[in-house]
Amino acid sequence: MERIINAANRLPITIGKKITVSSGGIVSALEGVRGDYEMIWLGWPGAAITGRKNQQHTKNLLFKDYGCLPVFLSDQEIDGYYHGFSNSSLWPILHYRPYYIKHQSQWWEQYKTVNQKFADAILKVAKTGDLVWVHDYQLMLVPEMLKQSGKKLKIGFFLHTPFPSYEVFRCHPQRKELLTGMLGADLIGFHTFGYLRHFRSSAMRLLGVECETMVVNSDGRKCRLGVFPIGADVQSFEREMDTAKFNKKRDEFINIFKGKTMVLSVERLDYSKGIMQKLKAIDCFLEKRENKNNIVFIFINIPSREQVPEYHQLRQEIESFVGRLNGKYATVKNTPVHFIYQSLEFTELCALYNIADIAMVTPLIDGMNLVAKEYVACKPDYKGVLLLSEFAGAANELFQAFIINPYDIESMVQTLEAAMTLEADDMKRRMKGLYERVVQFDAKYWAKSFINELNKVEIMQAASHRKVNVLQELSEKLNNSRKAAFFLDYDGTLCEIRDDPDKAGPDKNLKNLLEQLESKKSIDTYLISGRTEKDLDKWFEKYDITLIAEHGFSYRSPETHRWKRLIRNADLSWKKSVREILQQHVGTTQGSFIEEKVSSLTWHYRKADPEFGLINAQQLMSLFMEMLSNMPVEVHHGKKIIEVKSIHANKGTALMKFAGGKSRYDFVLCAGDDQTDENMFKVNDSRLFKIKLGQGPTEARYNVDSPKEFLNILSRIIAKRK
Ligand code: UDP
Repeated sequence: MERIINAANRLPITIGKKITVSSGGIVSALEGVRGDYEMIWLGWPGAAITGRKNQQHTKNLLFKDYGCLPVFLSDQEIDGYYHGFSNSSLWPILHYRPYYIKHQSQWWEQYKTVNQKFADAILKVAKTGDLVWVHDYQLMLVPEMLKQSGKKLKIGFFLHTPFPSYEVFRCHPQRKELLTGMLGADLIGFHTFGYLRHFRSSAMRLLGVECETMVVNSDGRKCRLGVFPIGADVQSFEREMDTAKFNKKRDEFINIFKGKTMVLSVERLDYSKGIMQKLKAIDCFLEKRENKNNIVFIFINIPSREQVPEYHQLRQEIESFVGRLNGKYATVKNTPVHFIYQSLEFTELCALYNIADIAMVTPLIDGMNLVAKEYVACKPDYKGVLLLSEFAGAANELFQAFIINPYDIESMVQTLEAAMTLEADDMKRRMKGLYERVVQFDAKYWAKSFINELNKVEIMQAASHRKVNVLQELSEKLNNSRKAAFFLDYDGTLCEIRDDPDKAGPDKNLKNLLEQLESKKSIDTYLISGRTEKDLDKWFEKYDITLIAEHGFSYRSPETHRWKRLIRNADLSWKKSVREILQQHVGTTQGSFIEEKVSSLTWHYRKADPEFGLINAQQLMSLFMEMLSNMPVEVHHGKKIIEVKSIHANKGTALMKFAGGKSRYDFVLCAGDDQTDENMFKVNDSRLFKIKLGQGPTEARYNVDSPKEFLNILSRIIAKRK
């Protein structure tokens, strides 16, 4: 049977005198696929269990009876990784509160350590082909750690919170590491397309990776993105509503609230939930209302993160506001606001959901908000009205609710008034629509759809695990050759790409290497670049090697040191109209610029906004495809550039011209990093040894990560040559 390893911060069990299994949440969600997969749970057991013997005992017990593998964490680790980094740094950024971020470098260290502990624990049990489902913001680095291990696993990550806009996410000190961590997954799930879009835009802007609508291309792999809105655990509520205990509680509550309209709020006490905004709306509402005896607002606020100061302050603020409200509006017959700062028993929660006339769900931002869906799930009689903030993920699908903007107090008051006076038919129509959706797309549906998608992914290994031994194969081939030719691209191959191309001159290492190369009689070196004659002269004039400029448009031989064109009388008449169009694009796309050479015109947009740059580049491409179809040019869309160049500037043609007949060279090495080098790689000749620098689709058989690694390989293979 296939296996799913579920990793989440907390194991779904509580260790007390007895071990109890938590109902609800991900455990019930996965019930729907239990028959198809074997389940393993991995997480923190909820208590600091110390001592080897103790830990081993707990481990055996939890695994045997519950399929749970505990990740033991010390109090110090829980402090730094959970209370510190996760809840005081990540939670605020993910919920649009960059100014609440606290930073302590040891928290980040603990977060990394604990994530590695999780990854190690997963790797210890995981077998090739297993599905690994990593949950939530506490474990953002785990996917990449798993991918780097080289084990062939299907790695899924689900973010249960919102993903904020790039403008907010970029404020976080570890923004890049966090994104890279998540991108180790083969599939990342979000509640809404909005969060997916923000994530993709952050990855593009902060990591410079290329993206499609639902895919991020990173490290030569594809990380798929998907939208999987989580649903409520409907069956648990249905089951509970069928019990005598529930009926008793329900009757009790009906009796308490008899003759009054009951408005219910249930939420963790958290700054993301809009509790103060809701109280302000209630204040305005009660002020206008004549009869203050027949309405009651019940606030169930679940204690949360009490060690974080913001939560403590918020509680004080809420309590004093509630006090003032009751002071202002209470009568002998009624206290309008009931503030309950504690968790409810499940039966009580169901009963309150079931009898509440109105539910007010007002988050300022919320990944999904299950309370809204649970309220609906407890309304099989369709009697009730849901007021739902447009900033909850649930608002994307629960559109028959009254959608409210919690920042707009006046409109919240009006909506509350409208909800109070809603016609019975209208109420039924709305709630029926909501109920059908919530019941159909429940927690089980969510888990099943994520797992089905994860099961379909093709496992792609990280770059470090895809490499063959280039050094060994290259030295063997070179050692067997009589006379060799090296065709070496410059930028991105012999030298790292720099933001300022004028600063990308050869360093000491490269100069040494070129000196060695020119002294070897059994190797002819060709520096084959897209750069101009002037650039190449500036840096390489003194070397006795062949320089090939503008992708093969002209060359300078070591004998004459004079530049010549490879093709005489090349037609360059197209340049005028292309230049005019590019100039218009420079005007409209901030950060873009034109580079002109004798044989080409290039529009660069790497300094422009990546999305806007790409849109304009795509438009430009379709325009050129039509306009230049009969011209002697090649148009290509490369790494943040659009290049229009003479067809006579082609590295493949140049290579064949110099490598020529087989009698001259019996071995030809060609190496390059971009699309223009693919013209060399496309040449079909058994003498060619083709190396692509970096990732991406290529015709080359070999792959090297960086210019540094490539130079190292070159200097090692030529050391023994004459
Ligand atoms: N809930 C709870 N104890 C209570 C009342 C509610 O655990 O006393 C549950 C509620 O049923 C819901 C969850 O807390 O499943 C809140 O989830 P939601 O998505 O609304 O917000 P979150 O707390 O995840 O931000």
